[in-house]
Amino acid sequence: MARVCIVCQKETKGGYKVEDDLVINTIRKIKQGLKIAKNNELVVMEECLEEHKKKRERYEKNLAIHVVIGGILFVIFTILPLLSGKFSIQGLLMGLVFAVLFIGLSVFYHWPRAQLEPQKKEKEGTEKKAKKKGK
Ligand SMILES: [Zn+2]
Repeated sequence: MARVCIVCQKETKGGYKVEDDLVINTIRKIKQGLKIAKNNELVVMEECLEEHKKKRERYEKNLAIHVVIGGILFVIFTILPLLSGKFSIQGLLMGLVFAVLFIGLSVFYHWPRAQLEPQKKEKEGTEKKAKKKGK
């Protein structure tokens, strides 16, 4: 299994491990389903750390904006009709769908978190063993 830097896509021996999150796991499962998974271990190289932090920050900002706008959409579709006495289940569902869809759009800016604290070698060793056993 190669270690690949997520910023520059180059193989590396060092680097900080990238945390698997919902988006990464989903992408991996899709790739496994399509049999195009490379099963690389994703890391961030020391040299690419600045770029990584920028991308992660951008994602977090975008996610926050999307959550706010998603909330506003929900209010427009749900609370406003309620105030004017025109509450409907369809309106509520539409508000929910729009809000969730809009928040989901932030996935296009998705950038995973990296474990910036260096890991203990002992723990890495047991992890690798566990993965081999799993196969
Ligand atoms: Zn890199």
